[in-house]
Amino acid sequence: MTLHDVPWPTEEEHKQGLVSWLNAMPGPVWLTLPGKDVNRHRVVVTLLHGNEQSGVEAFWHFVQNPPVCAVTVHFCIVNIEASLHGAPFTTRHLEHKPDMNRCFGKTGSDPSYALAAELLARINALKPEAVVDIHNTSGTSPAFAVSINDDEKHQQIASLFTERMLCTSVRLGALMEQTSDASPMVTVECGGVKDHNSVEVAKNGLHHFMSAEDLFFNHTGFWPVERLYHPVRVQLKPDLSLCYHDRFVEESDLTLPPDIDRHNFGWMAADSQIGWLGTKGLDAMTTNDGEGKYPISALFYEQDGELRLKHPAKLFMITTKHAIALSDCLFYMVVD
Ligand SMILES: [Zn+2]
Repeated sequence: MTLHDVPWPTEEEHKQGLVSWLNAMPGPVWLTLPGKDVNRHRVVVTLLHGNEQSGVEAFWHFVQNPPVCAVTVHFCIVNIEASLHGAPFTTRHLEHKPDMNRCFGKTGSDPSYALAAELLARINALKPEAVVDIHNTSGTSPAFAVSINDDEKHQQIASLFTERMLCTSVRLGALMEQTSDASPMVTVECGGVKDHNSVEVAKNGLHHFMSAEDLFFNHTGFWPVERLYHPVRVQLKPDLSLCYHDRFVEESDLTLPPDIDRHNFGWMAADSQIGWLGTKGLDAMTTNDGEGKYPISALFYEQDGELRLKHPAKLFMITTKHAIALSDCLFYMVVD
């Protein structure tokens, strides 16, 4: 697998539609849209996850009428192979392949790691003034950005798309972990694929990202950004069983309500019930905050089989997709 430089889609290709164009692509692709200043660059990465199409849909929107770009803008559309597996945009990554957004800064025998390295090398060679990586959450959610750096530059990139930014210490092998002062990188989660607003978030943000003369000074897309620190990733331990149901399911190690994602980004009070635990109790779950500060017992307690919050907290990236909850995580949280 390698990045292919391809031309901007033609009017004829645009008429045939996005999926048809993706089908004609030789693999992961790179497109370049020259701007007024051809010596400056910005990079948009999207579709690292094949089931998160808001970014590529926003790209497709701009194919016909791209705004006047202030600088040269590059689009990298990555996991087309997964996105076309089965029904379009239903597969995060192929079963025998690693998750593409866990391959950056890592090595492995799968060609996905080499592709991640190639993408990074391209970015580093261009020295873009900003990089955004556009995703969707797996459950319904408001939009938010994720960054490992909370400085002004990263906030300003985030503010083009959303008013919320998670500042994380968790290292997973995501692209934005490769950020630098010269080329700040931010992940944008546009909200769930089914959320009506998600494509609009991507389109509005990209419009500013492409057209603003100076991303870091006086641009019209600026919103003050709420920063959330130290998100904790909450997972079920390997090989345990998870159910989504509105009451405890016998034999399951954790039962979560099927509409738990309605809590995305809402403050929940201490003692709020999150779900139901099985015979292993709290020991069924584990956390990762990148620093080891929040073991599971610091965040939750069990009472009569119910899983409850110890402190007021915000939960987000809550998924109700069983496979993603098990392979990735149940949700993230920040504690007040
Ligand atoms: Zn994603």
